[in-house]
Amino acid sequence: MLIDGHGRKVNYLRVSVTERCNFRCQYCMPEKPFSWVPRENLLSFEELFLFIKVAIDEGVDKIRITGGEPLLREDLDSFIKMIHDYKPDIDLALTTNGYLLPQTAQRLKDAGLKRLNISLDSLKPEVAQQIAQKDVLKQVLKGIDAALAVGLGIKINMVPLKGINDDEILDIIAYCRDRDIKVRFIEYMENRHANEALRGMHGKEILEKVKEGHTIRALGREGASPSFNYMLDEEYEFGLIDPHKHDFCESCNRIRLTAEGNLIPCLYFDEALSISKAVKDGDIEAASQVLATVLRDKPKENRWNDFDPKDEDISARAFYETGG
Ligand code: SAM
Ligand code: SF4
Repeated sequence: MLIDGHGRKVNYLRVSVTERCNFRCQYCMPEKPFSWVPRENLLSFEELFLFIKVAIDEGVDKIRITGGEPLLREDLDSFIKMIHDYKPDIDLALTTNGYLLPQTAQRLKDAGLKRLNISLDSLKPEVAQQIAQKDVLKQVLKGIDAALAVGLGIKINMVPLKGINDDEILDIIAYCRDRDIKVRFIEYMENRHANEALRGMHGKEILEKVKEGHTIRALGREGASPSFNYMLDEEYEFGLIDPHKHDFCESCNRIRLTAEGNLIPCLYFDEALSISKAVKDGDIEAASQVLATVLRDKPKENRWNDFDPKDEDISARAFYETGG
């Protein structure tokens, strides 16, 4: 079992397989990067897998593949199969913008993927285009249908932004409820790469909007999940991911690995240690040592609550590197 320096059980590894993306979301990578990391700087699937095996052997039982847009990485299904075959009962999930799902959903399912989180910020083509800076909606909706058709479990992620998609919260709920899909509203997390003009809705404001059309009852956090759940009209459950809330980090169970091999204890802070040399040398002992150090030094809590762009500790890393 993996325990961090604050006594929290860590069993969840998020693995970013690329920082590349086919969208340019305003809250993630509106302009930069101007060029992508050269492919040779990325760890190969075999190298990532060596670390994943170490993490699984030491207690990780939940893995999420993310990016950038993970479906842009070639042969992703072979990587998913490697993980699945090593531990078939692992909770293996992927976060995607959904654009490439129409042609990949079946292969992902066949490789052993269990669940998908798909980002859907708007049901209006022009608003989806404003956020992603590309005409994406039709293809994303097709992707959701394709994933449902092959029997993948789905959750929808929406980031509500003031003056942009804040009038669509009830519509997104209706869309998801009709399809029996859980939606999770994610508070916008301020970061140095996003469009500076963006203002996110705080959890309280999101809940106020939901209450305009429904009754809601708080259910609480689901284990160590970042999502605080609510029952809507006594029949549909949705979640709120609220990193600005003071108790958000109390049950944090996750660490993150970037495509270049940086192991990150907390999304907010800059600290990270590289596993690159260890896995390139095939040195399991060294990989395990990096994991132990990152766990020991995992910060107690983020500082989004009183976000100050001048905070020197805040990570300069972008969400497209860490995978959100
Ligand atoms: N490209 C995939 C996608 O968009 O789902 C996976 C990577 S993306 C970085 C992972 C998640 O992070 C998405 O649900 C996205 O909406 C969310 N995200 C990105 N930037 C964010 C920000 N500044 N605040 C809150 N969520 C953010
Ligand atoms: Fe790409 Fe996802 Fe970032 Fe949007 S949030 S730019 S889809 S990585």
